[in-house]
Amino acid sequence: MIQGSCCCGSVKFTLAKDPSFLGICHCSRCRKLGTSEFFMVEREAFTWLSGKEFVAEYLPEQGFKYKRCFCQHCGSSLGEILSTEDKFPIAANSLDSDPELKVWFHEHLATRPSWQLVHEGAKLFDGDPYQ
Ligand SMILES: [Zn+2]
Ligand SMILES: [Zn+2]
Repeated sequence: MIQGSCCCGSVKFTLAKDPSFLGICHCSRCRKLGTSEFFMVEREAFTWLSGKEFVAEYLPEQGFKYKRCFCQHCGSSLGEILSTEDKFPIAANSLDSDPELKVWFHEHLATRPSWQLVHEGAKLFDGDPYQ
């Protein structure tokens, strides 16, 4: 069982199984929002323990389609934790333990700053691999 939480501990959840994969997005938006590193999790495996009511959504500006969630108390990035999709990305920083997954891919490498490292063996995409 994997536990997850925000910095202040208001938000708590569990994952009954490992995330599907670990990805890193280098777009400016993910960097600003603190969600560059994300785990894709399955809804079936995800259970809220507390704090869902403290999670706020930052709605996508024009030209973007993904919402971003954060704890209203401490500001921790939580990815798309309020998503209603079968699979959704959560900010890697929200997990309390390390599932020890290798980075599966890097996306939006064209806008990667030099201080964000590239993991050996990961698939590399200059833009969005889904388009
Ligand atoms: Zn918090
Ligand atoms: Zn991004």
